[in-house]
Amino acid sequence: MSTRHGVIQMIGSEKLMRKKTSTLGAHADGITRLYASLVFHQGVQRERLPVNIFKSLQDAIQKGKKLDPAIADAVATAMRDWATEHGATHYSHWFQPLTGSTAEKHDCFITPDNGHQVLARFSGSELIRGESDASSFPSGGLRATFEARGYTAWDPSSPAFILENENGATLVIPTMFLSWNGDSLDQKTPMLRSLDALNKQALRVLRVLGNHTAERVECTLGVEQEYFLVDKRLAMLRPDLMITGRTLFGAAPPKGQELDDNYFGAIPQRVLTFMTDLEYELIRLGIPIKTRHNEVAPGQYELAPTFETTNLALDHQMLIMQLLRQIAPRHGFMCLLHEKPFKGVNGSGKHNNWSIGTDKGENLLDPGDTEERNLQFLIFCSALCRAVFHYSKLIRLGVASAGNDLRLGAHEAPPAIMSIHLGYDLEQYYHALFGVDEKNTSRKNKNDLRIPLLQNLPRHVGDRNRTSPIAFTGNKFEFRACGANQNSSTLVTIINTCVAESLDFIATRLEKTLKTGTKKASRSSILDLLEEMAKEFAPIIYNGDNYAAQWKEKAKKRKLPDLVSTADCLELLTSKESVTLFEKYSVYTLAELKSRMEILADAYCANISIEASTALKIAQTQILPAVLKYKKQVLDVLNPESEPQKKLASELDKRLDLLLQAVETLRDRLYDHQQKRTLREKTEYYRDYILPAMHALRTVVDSLEQMVDDDLWPLPTYTELLFVH
Ligand code: ADP
Ligand code: MG
Repeated sequence: MSTRHGVIQMIGSEKLMRKKTSTLGAHADGITRLYASLVFHQGVQRERLPVNIFKSLQDAIQKGKKLDPAIADAVATAMRDWATEHGATHYSHWFQPLTGSTAEKHDCFITPDNGHQVLARFSGSELIRGESDASSFPSGGLRATFEARGYTAWDPSSPAFILENENGATLVIPTMFLSWNGDSLDQKTPMLRSLDALNKQALRVLRVLGNHTAERVECTLGVEQEYFLVDKRLAMLRPDLMITGRTLFGAAPPKGQELDDNYFGAIPQRVLTFMTDLEYELIRLGIPIKTRHNEVAPGQYELAPTFETTNLALDHQMLIMQLLRQIAPRHGFMCLLHEKPFKGVNGSGKHNNWSIGTDKGENLLDPGDTEERNLQFLIFCSALCRAVFHYSKLIRLGVASAGNDLRLGAHEAPPAIMSIHLGYDLEQYYHALFGVDEKNTSRKNKNDLRIPLLQNLPRHVGDRNRTSPIAFTGNKFEFRACGANQNSSTLVTIINTCVAESLDFIATRLEKTLKTGTKKASRSSILDLLEEMAKEFAPIIYNGDNYAAQWKEKAKKRKLPDLVSTADCLELLTSKESVTLFEKYSVYTLAELKSRMEILADAYCANISIEASTALKIAQTQILPAVLKYKKQVLDVLNPESEPQKKLASELDKRLDLLLQAVETLRDRLYDHQQKRTLREKTEYYRDYILPAMHALRTVVDSLEQMVDDDLWPLPTYTELLFVH
């Protein structure tokens, strides 16, 4: 029996013996008491800090005021006491470097004292700033290796929490990561800056619309996460899954997702046990986990927390990915977060539900029953549509990666063409308000005609178009192009900045129409501006099927960009348009943009290069020997008189030759890449030469899988990976 078959047999018999383990519901404490029990949240802060210190910390958190360093010592001490009571021995500054994942360095609370004793110490300065020898994090030239120091800076707006492990616990402090001259080396810093820009411009718009009560505008985010679970013991027999997170080979299984019997189907028991274990951990970390269900593909699942303020939602999203990966092995699974782990099977996305609201609890993307409210809704909705229209390439760039390229446009994920689905009713409404057929009506009358319409804005209806990369869904926009593996911060930073620019445009225009002595723009000036914008962004609105071939044609006529590969969009980051935008709102400096472009390009090439080397190794050392063995088997029993048998042997020979040729081509091309110098040359070379050679090799290997003795085949098949739970 092959190793593969042995493992499958083992999993099968184990299933019969599986015992019930603990679940969230079984914990005597119940969900409400467990919720956020590992978080140094506002309630704990109030309980443990002197009143004046608590107040000044809240001002820093809620109003974005600068934190008085004098209070840091008191906060640090309270944090340390709370953490050690929860079993923590170490603290860690936790940050999001440009690798796409999170990073942490642990320091023990213990400091030697008098040579014989130790004290548990944690000072304010240790809380506020951490020094990091960060030479190995990507900086895209922002920091030379010889001046390797970067530093982490406490982000008080995201509360500290405790991460437990089997043998202890660590106090984790969310931080930003910067170089000594203040350049951001992480995802969080520019994202926080973009929130500021959005807040500033949105407040200007609210003021000119007559709202003087809102003091802050917050962006809210709810992130749906898709993932695959495969049996870890099978995954470990596949070097491609171990190293690259996706299968580089694998013929289509006889049954895939054709029957649509997986979506929302009953969750397999072992998976459900894993989910409840995961949820137990997430709940204790104050992550408001809400939904769980089977996704479209076999072996694919989704979870989603309730939305939160953006900074918190993004930190939580990183934690969710970390815990998915960590907890899966406890249940014998490997969690795949890759955007496209299986060819021919749906990939995994990360839907970002984005909205903006005021500190008074009003969602600015929620229509209402009054004219005023609806004008406000139309302004904010149009601001987003205008932003996507003007900056659709940047938004595409916000989800660019080698992995996500495999998913976008693959007839199960939105295409790389950015467009917005407003929904039938809202689109009709825009038509009725601003449509060309009213051309002949005089301006004054036209606005009068619009009054009844303004009071009757259609509320959310359920015609969700799942094929659109961006969809209005009642009181929020859903951005669906993001890949499961990505940190959504880049996308969110770009959206926030582009929308801030649109709001700036709107505020400036409306402020100009103000008559002396008035502070509120007139209805007609608002409607005129809305009409002008609606006509401008019309090409970006599309309610049809985005998977259909006609859409590509239509989009071309509408002059919408279709950037299929990451290699097509990288240089946009340092284009004049992008630099002007990001510098104007102080989100990225030119140096930061350059560094990010370099890092993205390097990651693109490195990912493909690792995949190509892995594919070569598997093809040469696992597939080829299996094929040769099979050839010998065939030849041993071949009847030279039989035509069909000779045909089998010659077909096998043909595919074997193709395999050898494909291996050679990929090997040569990988070797040649060293000649490429500029970033552009490199990325284009990987796109145009390495990827096609990998594809060719895969095609032969997959055809051999359908032919060679199953006992000899070294890699667990798609059927085994997708259907063994
Ligand atoms: P779907 O049908 O796409 O699964 P859901 O109604 O389940 O949509 O919601 C998806 C996500 O949208 C959830 O995380 C939810 O909390 C989030 N969401 C709801 N309202 C808002 C909002 N105002 N801002 C941001 N996200 C929101
Ligand atoms: Mg969704």
